[in-house]
Amino acid sequence: MHFSQLTDYYEKIEATTSRIEMTNLLVELLKKSPPEIIDKIVYLTVGEIYPPFTGIELGVADKLALRAVKLASGQHEKFVKEEYSRLGDIGLVAEKLLQKRSQITLHMHELTVQEVYQSLEKIARAVGEGAMEMKVQILVGLLASATPKEAKYILRIVTGKLRLGVADMTILDALAILYGGGKEARESFERAYNLTSDIGYVAKIAVSEGLEGIKNIKITIGRPVRPMLAERLSSATEILDKVGGKCIVEYKYDGERMQIHKKGGDVIIFSRRQENITSQYPDVVKLVQESVLADEAILECEAVAIEKETGEMLPFQELMHRKRKHEIHKAIEEYPVSLYFFDVLYVDGRDLTIEPLEQRRKILEKIVKIGERINLSKAVYTDSSEGLERFFHEAVEVGCEGVVVKALGKEAIYRAGARGWLWIKYKRDYKSEMIDTVDLVVVGAFHGRGRRSGKYGALLMAAYDPEKDVFPSVCKVGSGFTDEDLEKLPSILEQCKIHHRHARVETGMEADVWFEPRLVLEIIGAEITLSPIHRAGWNVIKENTGLAIRFPRFTGKYRLDKSPEDATTVNELIEMYNSQLKKIVETPSS
Ligand code: ATP
Repeated sequence: MHFSQLTDYYEKIEATTSRIEMTNLLVELLKKSPPEIIDKIVYLTVGEIYPPFTGIELGVADKLALRAVKLASGQHEKFVKEEYSRLGDIGLVAEKLLQKRSQITLHMHELTVQEVYQSLEKIARAVGEGAMEMKVQILVGLLASATPKEAKYILRIVTGKLRLGVADMTILDALAILYGGGKEARESFERAYNLTSDIGYVAKIAVSEGLEGIKNIKITIGRPVRPMLAERLSSATEILDKVGGKCIVEYKYDGERMQIHKKGGDVIIFSRRQENITSQYPDVVKLVQESVLADEAILECEAVAIEKETGEMLPFQELMHRKRKHEIHKAIEEYPVSLYFFDVLYVDGRDLTIEPLEQRRKILEKIVKIGERINLSKAVYTDSSEGLERFFHEAVEVGCEGVVVKALGKEAIYRAGARGWLWIKYKRDYKSEMIDTVDLVVVGAFHGRGRRSGKYGALLMAAYDPEKDVFPSVCKVGSGFTDEDLEKLPSILEQCKIHHRHARVETGMEADVWFEPRLVLEIIGAEITLSPIHRAGWNVIKENTGLAIRFPRFTGKYRLDKSPEDATTVNELIEMYNSQLKKIVETPSS
């Protein structure tokens, strides 16, 4: 097929503003496409050369592309740059300057789609020393034979700016019309796409095997499945109604979603957007090799950054360190992750997406070997809105974003690529900075692990309730301590160590070591949240609920000048919580 036939269609597609017309043009184009290269034509039309999950991208920088245009057109660099700043579109620059080409090259011949595609592949795959120069040379070679119109589209494709407005979904429409006999077949095509994330592959199967072939497309290791997504609601009763009165509620971890494909010892990790992110997580690869007890499997989990000494969850932002290529090894060391598995889509030849959630969860329990850094998402079955609410507050308090409520029963399959009511997220609906620090009393401690073994890993902190003269707990703090603090805390606290919870301490938490309330520390956190565990402000805002501090951190200040009764009071915390809410009502956009 000549490349000019393709670009003729591109011009027409670009000119239309009607989706129906665009689909019709695509149908015509696909009908004319030779079956053996239909996948390539589809990739090119959406501005790519491979499916995104391969990670191989064209993305030639404009500067490099301009150099190729300069060489191919024989114009001065200054002129090329001026035209570029005037037109703002490298494709138009190429089109215009090649029209001015004075000498027709001897090699001029009509370009074919295959030829252009192969050159683009070479450009994408050129790496290492001399790669830039090679890319320019290949591009110049292509431009030598290209008409101005072809040059326009070649330049737009290599720089990643084709932008015809054709989405994968529009291609699916066209394929369903052409090979499925019409709109009724759309669902089958969409399912095939959702299971493979590869629009070129779907086109190839459609042309070679028709609708039957499309229906037979199977989930495959190595091809990411488009993720099942959740709807959102903000009331526990409404959610419960929506899922039919019974559900499984899981922590909604605040990390990075991973779809993990394992085949023997090979592990690939795909992101929520189906990018291959395996190189960012060599530690996860190892964990999966050691702890997933199936030869072949596709599983989903959330990877959460954790504080290495205490194992506590950290905010999502801490995973950003993984995005810096050169610092991966440092990031693994300083920002380890814990994995929380919440679904399984495939095991040893068996497609589990058509199985109900309860069944999938059972299989997950069998094939994931729980360890220090590897777990299943924390989950409870419930049929009461109070139970749901309680679990939600617990989740927020330990650093999660909220919960994901999942429907039960036969219908509750894994709906790839769909945002539906089988999963409903219930997130904390406010976000505000905790501006003031608080002074809290140490009432208990937890043994440290790893580098903190033999010391305290975290402390249980309480506020003061002057009316009842008790110390209700507010948080467990493990962050903000220097090595020196960790070294000296056991001896400072030794004097107030007791064998059981102090009679004036109220908490739903079991500490490893208990103290008489004496030492006051200054703490800052992200916000004040509701809690089913901590007892400050118990039953004041809500029944069977207290207040807690989310992401608490020691500021470094020992308030030796304060007696425990001078600590922040429960009423102050309630006030802080209420003013947080007020702030949100006043600034709904925040
Ligand atoms: P959000 O920004 O709220 O995470 P999203 O569009 O990425 O939204 P949604 O489907 O709306 O995704 O919400 C579910 C997301 O929550 C998943 O993509 C996943 O990353 C995350 N998550 C955390 N814990 C769980 C869990 N136990 N089950 C399912 N998803 C979970």
